[in-house]
Amino acid sequence: MHPATKLIHSIPIDPLTGAISVPIYQTSTFIQEAPGINKGFDYARSNNPTRAALEQIMAELENGSDGVAFGSGLAAIDAVIRLLKSGDEIIAVDDIYGGAYRLFEKVYKKFGIHVTYVDATDVANISGAITPHTRLIWLESPTNPTLKIADIEAISAIARENGCLLCVDNTFASPALQKPLLLGADLVVHSATKYLGGHSDLIAGLVVTKNKELGEQIRFFQNATGGILAPFDSWLLIRGIETLHLRMRQHCASALRIANFLQQHPAVDKVFYPGLPSHPNHQVACRQSSGFGGIVSFSLKTDSEEAAHQLIGHTRLFRLAESLGGIKSLLSHPATMTHKSIPAEQRRSAGVSDSLIRLSVGLEETDDLLADLAEALEKQEKVKIRTEFSFN
Ligand SMILES: *Cc1c(COP(=O)(O)O)cnc(C)c1O
Repeated sequence: MHPATKLIHSIPIDPLTGAISVPIYQTSTFIQEAPGINKGFDYARSNNPTRAALEQIMAELENGSDGVAFGSGLAAIDAVIRLLKSGDEIIAVDDIYGGAYRLFEKVYKKFGIHVTYVDATDVANISGAITPHTRLIWLESPTNPTLKIADIEAISAIARENGCLLCVDNTFASPALQKPLLLGADLVVHSATKYLGGHSDLIAGLVVTKNKELGEQIRFFQNATGGILAPFDSWLLIRGIETLHLRMRQHCASALRIANFLQQHPAVDKVFYPGLPSHPNHQVACRQSSGFGGIVSFSLKTDSEEAAHQLIGHTRLFRLAESLGGIKSLLSHPATMTHKSIPAEQRRSAGVSDSLIRLSVGLEETDDLLADLAEALEKQEKVKIRTEFSFN
């Protein structure tokens, strides 16, 4: 059975009423027949039927044993780090999501958890960074915003050999395109705010574990620290996940056409998209994922913040905002937005040049998106020629 069919039929029918949509159990507590005798639910921080349905759907979707839903992607990441103790070390991908970097450096460092950042596109960098204290390898693939790809299977072998866990932040690919647990990872995290939700209408996070033992530990932290996802948001997220495969197919198709268009445009310098044969990790991407996602980044021949800002000012369908993965196309300028706090030299050497623009390709008709970019690039070129002329 195709995963999309399996997913749609993994969404439970309400056994009480036959309701085809999972009911929203908006309750804080559950009446007990006698102390300790209940219907599997006692207090809604510990467990809630709507959240439980979501968690089960996600476990199946990622081919894991347990799904655990949190109030945000960062709360999900935080729960995984709680598996560690003082003195443990993490090896993390160097272009890690900024919020995860902040959590590692500004929160967990002072509890004695240290992180080494490496370019994970070369597996040797991971093995070279292992120490006797390494307990966790942290990957994102594709990364943000330069869409680097790490070989999850090869890195999972290194994790196993060295007795450490591998966690993959699968936000950019989504389980419709990539299943890290099948490639050997122990844990998957998601900012469900992005593609899983898919409609830019909620903040949510998920952890899916390979086995029950890890699942129980993550669930313990969920209950002990309380960062749960509310019943309504759990329902909304199920509703988003129902169309995940369909949406991802269209995101991928449009993104590939846009990447190809940008690559042959005279005003564009570099295009970052794992689906392009020219992408340095294209072969790995083909092997481990069934599609290349909806994010495309590119830089301009005129590599300046002004040029990028001019272009952004000229698009009409691609709207300026942080975040990604929704139905509306968005763009962002990492150098002055998400990556502003990184020193310019460090930022540039990580591939985030001054003019780099990240597109989150939405679900509008592809031709309209191409026309929007073509027009904006043309206008930006005209502005450039005008300003060059006036300076002469
Ligand atoms: C957005 C994002 C997060 C954080 O998720 P929130 O839901 O905003 O807390 C983590 N990882 C990646 C890759 C993201 O894009």
